[in-house]
Amino acid sequence: MKCFKDFILNILDIFFLIKKNIRNLLSIKSSFQLRVLIYHDVKSDIQIKLFHNQILSLKKEYVFISPFEFEKLLKKKNKPNKKYILLTFDDGFKSNRKIAEEILNKLNIKALFFIISDFISKPLKSNAYEKIINNIYPNGPRKEELSKPMDYDDIKFLLTSGHQIGCHTLSHKKLSSLENFNDLKSEIISSKIDLENNFGIKIKHFAFPFGTYESINHDSIQVLNQYYEYIFSGLRGNNKRVTKLIYRDAVNPEMKIIRLKSFLNGNADFFYKRKFRILKSYFN
Ligand SMILES: [Zn+2]
Repeated sequence: MKCFKDFILNILDIFFLIKKNIRNLLSIKSSFQLRVLIYHDVKSDIQIKLFHNQILSLKKEYVFISPFEFEKLLKKKNKPNKKYILLTFDDGFKSNRKIAEEILNKLNIKALFFIISDFISKPLKSNAYEKIINNIYPNGPRKEELSKPMDYDDIKFLLTSGHQIGCHTLSHKKLSSLENFNDLKSEIISSKIDLENNFGIKIKHFAFPFGTYESINHDSIQVLNQYYEYIFSGLRGNNKRVTKLIYRDAVNPEMKIIRLKSFLNGNADFFYKRKFRILKSYFN
């Protein structure tokens, strides 16, 4: 299955290169693109360097925008023919602060960090840490995946640097598999209250744990719709229209720049369109 997926993605990369060259030859201008990238834990110094290179390369072609500018662009009637990126980071690992301090702040890029509220400040090897790390990596975390979460000061640092935080549930459970409606409400609502009380801010962004079509269901959308303004999925697409449900592209620092740009240009969007439409119908 993985080989087949790689094969398809390689074909899409080639398709992207051909399309790009044709557009250059015919001097076709780019159309409006509003894409959201998802990164997670950026673990090692090598990964941080690779991430930095990706951002510098994308900066030549894309305008990096803040969560606030993202909202404005989403609602704008006459969209400019430019390409925009909003950076998001899921799970709230310690490396996110390092990325902000060493890279984003220096480039004046404002990102959105999705925090698992019960994960903040949990010491490695504690029961509370183990419970959540196993939810993040359901197949069992590998040794290199046992990174520290951010503490309260790290998150305050992000906020004072002009970044925003959003909610990523209490404990990273797969919401579509929760059988008890009170558990679902607690993951969605208590986590928001915790973040708002601890940091004295209003939270209006939510990102689904896993973010796949299968991890999202009707009940979770119905509850989220009452408490959040923007709900971020993990389905790839261009955010062209005003909607509460947001497309995002999962990427990682090791991804080749051609693959990254191929995703950003929408070469894999086709696979997600139908599923996205079904999820949007859950709002009714
Ligand atoms: Zn997550």
